Amino acid sequence: PQLANQIAAGEVVERPASVVKELVENSLDAGATRIDIEIDKGGAKLIRIRDNGSGIGKDELSMALARHATSKIASLDDLEAIVSLGFRGEALASISSVSRLTLTSRTAEQAEAWQAYAEGREMAVTLKPAAHPVGTTLEVLDLFYNTPARRKFMRTEKTEFTHIDEIVRRIALARFDVAFSLTHNGKLVRQYRGVSESSQRERRMGAICGTAFLSHALAIEWQHGDLSLRGWVADPVGSKAITDLQYCYVNGRMMRDRLINHAIRQAYQDKLGNDHQPAYVLYLEIDPHQVDVNVHPAKHEVRFHQSRLVHDFIYQGVVSVLQEAGA
Ligand code: ADP
Ligand code: MG
Repeated sequence: PQLANQIAAGEVVERPASVVKELVENSLDAGATRIDIEIDKGGAKLIRIRDNGSGIGKDELSMALARHATSKIASLDDLEAIVSLGFRGEALASISSVSRLTLTSRTAEQAEAWQAYAEGREMAVTLKPAAHPVGTTLEVLDLFYNTPARRKFMRTEKTEFTHIDEIVRRIALARFDVAFSLTHNGKLVRQYRGVSESSQRERRMGAICGTAFLSHALAIEWQHGDLSLRGWVADPVGSKAITDLQYCYVNGRMMRDRLINHAIRQAYQDKLGNDHQPAYVLYLEIDPHQVDVNVHPAKHEVRFHQSRLVHDFIYQGVVSVLQEAGA
């Protein structure tokens, strides 16, 4: 199992930032409202994620570390309409096969917490009692220590941390209601309180995206049938710093999507001309039956069943906001 898991890890765990992404997504799936992320040496030494989610029962701990074991999909029907961020049951097994991973967790029903650790070629799981409040801590030490080729591909501490920071900021934009903190080498780098009101959301958005984006941002609220689009678009006019700020979320999942990007640019070009490079933070909500997220192991691509419809919907939404703004 260790070798098979290491091969799978090649697809899911590219670098420390991908570990952070998978673990934070697990915390969100577990309903956490507070997630604390601690990093040492760009993640090469330590990645520790602590959440106050539902926790994992003692009897489920070994399963959580096994490959293709997910508690989130029970049937083919579930797979047709995925509502959780995870569904492949691959991340923990993969990460654990290329690091020293310990999983400590407690559910509300249990009086005590348990810690699990998998090792050796058979990935045998050892369990022992531990101290932990309700929720889960994942600790990943010495990433890629046993896969020297991958370890060689890691860049400097600073570069790897920059990638982690980027992932955390993007996830913090996906869930305003969740509190996040990010610490590097013992120093608190980011801290976001969980917020609900839209003015507070805008403040977090400004803190993450910067004042250049915030001051040019046009808010979008657009709806048609069961499609909805919210968020902000901004035309940075000359402020280069934000031209690569193109964040989009489909049903809460961060995405790189050509179709969405194309629709937005098309709207800008048709309304304002060729030399505009819109930056955006957009949230698309769509019936989960209408989208396939099981396209790539890292889950950052989607396929829309009716891509033309989605494209035109987004195009119209952006056009109407630009018109309102006087374009
Ligand atoms: P997936 O997220 O695709 O289900 P993972 O390998 O990421 O697969 O996680 C395996 C399982 O471990 C999850 O299905 C979930 O049951 C459990 N799990 C992982 N992380 C957490 C967490 N932070 N809180 C609660 N349960 C978790
Ligand atoms: Mg997962």
